[in-house]
Amino acid sequence: PVFDALSEKLQATLDDVRQRGTLTESDVNAAMREIRLALLEADVNFKVVKSFTNTVKERCLGADVLGQLNPGQQVVGIVHEELVSLLGGESIELEFSPRPPTVILMSGLQGSGKTTAVAKLAKHLKEEKGSSVALAACDVQRPAAVEQLRLVGEQAGATVYDRGTELPAVDVARWALDQAKQDGKDVLIVDTAGRLHVDAELMAELVAIRDAVRPQTVLLTVDAMTGQDAVNVAEQFSAAAGFDGVVMSKLDGDARGGAALSVKAVTGKPILFASTGEKLGDFQVFHPDRMAQRILGMGDVLSLVESAQRQFDEKDAKDLERKFRRNEFTLEDFLKQMKMIRRMGPLSKVLGMLPGVGAQLDGANIDDREMDRVEAIILSMTVKERRSPELIKGSRRLRIAKGSGTSVQQVNQLVKNFQQMRKVMKQMTKGGMRDMAGLMGQ
Ligand code: GDP
Repeated sequence: PVFDALSEKLQATLDDVRQRGTLTESDVNAAMREIRLALLEADVNFKVVKSFTNTVKERCLGADVLGQLNPGQQVVGIVHEELVSLLGGESIELEFSPRPPTVILMSGLQGSGKTTAVAKLAKHLKEEKGSSVALAACDVQRPAAVEQLRLVGEQAGATVYDRGTELPAVDVARWALDQAKQDGKDVLIVDTAGRLHVDAELMAELVAIRDAVRPQTVLLTVDAMTGQDAVNVAEQFSAAAGFDGVVMSKLDGDARGGAALSVKAVTGKPILFASTGEKLGDFQVFHPDRMAQRILGMGDVLSLVESAQRQFDEKDAKDLERKFRRNEFTLEDFLKQMKMIRRMGPLSKVLGMLPGVGAQLDGANIDDREMDRVEAIILSMTVKERRSPELIKGSRRLRIAKGSGTSVQQVNQLVKNFQQMRKVMKQMTKGGMRDMAGLMGQ
């Protein structure tokens, strides 16, 4: 999967940094060299790499990290924050027009996965937002393109407005917009002509369609597998016609992730969606924070929640959702979840998704005994302690360690992981209750 190689290298570098008691400037420099290499090997744009490592380095040296007690952890924190910002910062929602239909214009080169993305987006909006969606077939260069849109549009449950190839694209777009108004559609997604390369004619047509239908959002689909070419294409589209956000397609086939890591920095426009397979369901809102966490091995709690949903009944899901929202999720709940997780499949996979826990259990040793250990620690706590583990004092930590046959360090680690997890849960539910409800299978 995407970012695997990068992830491995960054984690190795940061683990090394974390293990040092103190850091010198030359330690930081050495770490930055490793990070630079890892990013370059991931095919991240050269200038982007340079500015990224410069920023991280400045922050590491400037924040007085060097003399501190746990400098490694702070370096990891800085790398994480900068990675989130590199991937686009906050995740961004599509804007909807107060006067429907909301018009979304999709641009992109031929073969980029543009038509597929149109259908995937239609399905996504239909299922996640309950929108009625229509598609406008304005790629009139090739009859096959119109035919393809008809086919995938139908699969996505969207109405497809097409006039074959009889009319110019701009006229089809205008006509489709009228149809969408008449039919009371919430959203109209306009598919535009793809070419093999960016050319003046293509850009002129795009601009003409844009002026005719005044979209809320112009999206550009680029093929992640083409690496820096995708970024160049985005730059050209940006200069000639402009766009608001990127659909990064074929991320499933891209092991390096260079395009995804460069495109925001180079074009100033964020990735809104990730397309990760040939099926219409292989499409997600792009979350920079989650992606950065995954790259740094900080786990992917939401993915965990997603696989957990299959084990939940609806009441459990609602309870858990409420707890996340009120920040009432405790170690007791965690224990309950963990028992459920054990039924979910290969432990290594499941645990890898828990922030910190994956790293705590070093690769080869991930087995049920490790789960037993975490369970034993929690069971050695009082109910009060399970609810507010941050309040557990040193002497109690020792008792808990003894009671569970573990070490104080392991107890501390668990408490830390849990707090981090709770923070993520809280952030997650702050902006996205609707999404959560969807994920929990409502
Ligand atoms: P268009 O010419 O830009 O409209 O591209 P298409 O939508 O026809 O896609 C080109 C090819 O890429 C098709 O074979 C799609 O099935 C495939 N494709 C599109 N998106 C993805 C994706 O996210 N992952 C993978 N693996 N294949 C994709």
